[in-house]
Amino acid sequence: MINLLSDTATKPTPKMLEAMWAAEVGDDVFREDPTVNALEAKCAALFGHEAALFCPSGTMANQIAIKVHTRPLDEVICDEMSHIYQYEVGGYAFHSGIAVNLLRGENGILTAEMVEAAIKPRYDWLPRSTLVVIENSCNKGGGSIYPMKRIREIRKMCQKNGLALHLDGARIFNALVETGDSTTSIGTEVDSLSLCLSKGLGAPVGSVLVGNQAFIADARRVRKAMGGGMRQAGFLAAAGIYALDHHVERLKEDHANARQLAAALNELPWVMNIRPVQTNILIFDLVPPHTPAEFLAYLKENDVVASAFGPQTIRFVTHLDVTGAMVEQAIEILSGY
Ligand SMILES: *Cc1c(COP(=O)(O)O)cnc(C)c1O
Repeated sequence: MINLLSDTATKPTPKMLEAMWAAEVGDDVFREDPTVNALEAKCAALFGHEAALFCPSGTMANQIAIKVHTRPLDEVICDEMSHIYQYEVGGYAFHSGIAVNLLRGENGILTAEMVEAAIKPRYDWLPRSTLVVIENSCNKGGGSIYPMKRIREIRKMCQKNGLALHLDGARIFNALVETGDSTTSIGTEVDSLSLCLSKGLGAPVGSVLVGNQAFIADARRVRKAMGGGMRQAGFLAAAGIYALDHHVERLKEDHANARQLAAALNELPWVMNIRPVQTNILIFDLVPPHTPAEFLAYLKENDVVASAFGPQTIRFVTHLDVTGAMVEQAIEILSGY
């Protein structure tokens, strides 16, 4: 089976499983799990921050960040494609009691000018703009990357206007291996960031929230209130440490595989609007009368799974469990459609 559905599908490699078996563990609610502590210290240092918090999911890490950065009746400014808006069940309203101010950037990428123009004046009848969330790389934007310069401009504008800046970095390493920017250079431009260990990095479970001491102290309490305090979580944290040590550089292979698939699709008459491939996500449209349902059924008959991403749109995602040979095979299958 060739799984182009999502990079969440990756399974632990034998070596990662060995690292998990060997983990030293304790009760992390009492902060006595040495492996969780090591993962948190590693992530904080990587991104140039004071502290970090291991969370069960990227959604929880983002939702905790939103909760700590805002008060009820505030609003978060973000792109309309943002994961926090599209795919987190409206959690910003549920957990934090805040509104959302949606912008339409280019493939999910905002500019400082756009964000600044969206900040609401301080009237009693308006929500208070207090938080900006950017997503890098942007999933729904086709794995698009924020240029570092843009992030610096947004950061400056946020500081000038007293707004907090959170980075949804579920796929931050996909962006960084392409741009060559360092983890600290991006980490120090934001107040907090979340990263996923369970996407292309190949860990089975887990995300990490990074920020300063005071922010993470509050985040730890919110995580507990959400039911995210875990006990012997070191077995999972060990997978995360292994992933950070061994699976970051290889993300480039996933990107090359995505570009190879895009080049093949470009030759096919039933494909249109292939979005620029910057990382491991490939989004394109089917020429009518072809439909995602019919196309995905054809793929499934040939043991390939992918997803519909709109009425005419398909998404392919490459990852650790999609080999070069599988890409060649998928291209064969695509040309038979
Ligand atoms: C996957 C993802 C998340 C978090 O997802 P979980 O499934 O909750 O771990 C957050 N943001 C983006 C951009 C994502 O792709």
